[in-house]
Amino acid sequence: MIPAWVERDLEAVAAADALRSLRPLEGPTAARVRVEGRELRNFSSNDYLGLAADPRLAEAAGAAARRWGSGAGASRLITGTLGIHGELEEALAALKGAETALLFSTGYQANLGLLQALAPEGVILSDELNHASLVDGCRLARAQVAVYRHGDTNHLADLLSQHADAPRTIVATDGVFSMDGDLAPLPALLAAAEPRGGLVIVDDAHATGVLGAGRGTAHHLGVDPGRVVHMGTLGKALGSFGAFVAGPAPIRDLLVNRARSLIYTTAPPPPAVGAALAALGVLRDEPWRLGALERNGRALREGLRALGFRVSEAPTPIVPLVLGGNRRTLRWSRGLWERGFWVHPIRPPTVPEGTSRLRLTVTAAHTAADLAGLLQALAEVAREEDADDLAR
Ligand SMILES: *Cc1c(COP(=O)(O)O)cnc(C)c1O
Repeated sequence: MIPAWVERDLEAVAAADALRSLRPLEGPTAARVRVEGRELRNFSSNDYLGLAADPRLAEAAGAAARRWGSGAGASRLITGTLGIHGELEEALAALKGAETALLFSTGYQANLGLLQALAPEGVILSDELNHASLVDGCRLARAQVAVYRHGDTNHLADLLSQHADAPRTIVATDGVFSMDGDLAPLPALLAAAEPRGGLVIVDDAHATGVLGAGRGTAHHLGVDPGRVVHMGTLGKALGSFGAFVAGPAPIRDLLVNRARSLIYTTAPPPPAVGAALAALGVLRDEPWRLGALERNGRALREGLRALGFRVSEAPTPIVPLVLGGNRRTLRWSRGLWERGFWVHPIRPPTVPEGTSRLRLTVTAAHTAADLAGLLQALAEVAREEDADDLAR
């Protein structure tokens, strides 16, 4: 009944030390989580503001379910668009400084829909380290795809001239790169793309609710938000689920008419929408969370530098320690796990071959003691592993 190739494929994955599995938490996600009967300090989540298990979001989700139902019952284009969707879209447009916003069920779908709908022809220029959902959006779009070296605006400019005759040009980039924690050079990308009529799309999954007073990469870098189309997620800093595209009204209209990942899927459920609205309230009313997040990111980077690790200056909560091979990365991760810290090993195809890494993420909910404990554990593991090559 099970074809032989299923086991064969799994064995091939395992032989490359690339096997992944699902590990259920025994409670909500937070800075401390229960797994396999133990409490672990969690340095692997994207719950940047510590809101995923906030009781106010849970309350708002319940209230939205009572008022609007547990499900939307249809796609956005049929009868699935509810008043609460419009309320959240207005709030998100305001947050991003955009004319409009449009909710999608997930960020993955938002990126698929954006590129498929906006690029039926022409060329998409895509950063080589873009998130898998942008990569898959490129596959779904009918435009040509040209990949530029990570953050390399000279390479981008070369590719733009090579494709100068394209009937339309789109530049797609993560705002904060999910596995590297660095920022897209937005001002330079715009300077290269705009003279050629290029439209710049920024995936702000890791910057919404994080950078620029929570408004995202463009705000953080002082770029007029009207110059780009923003994608953002509700499932990371905003502690809920879902995503949105923010930008000019005609772009929204085109997406409503063409984006297959919006048209052919059920609208986001009211509880998730209600929780996201509550999260925007918390973001506005509790700016200390952004302060704590930034402070924790800075403290982690400084602590790692003091231990001799090379880390970037980027002001984001994502700090990678690139270790190279899968086996080594698994060993480091296991060493930290045994000491009570969950730092997930990130392996290909999520990152390029040979760049497997520990991806450390801090949240506003980590304490100074959590960070000190992590650094201590990392120092011990590094000593065991003889990690001279990671020091400058
Ligand atoms: C998480 C993520 C997405 C996908 O968002 P979901 O809402 O989780 O589907 C898209 N882009 C980037 C950069 C991400 O990190």
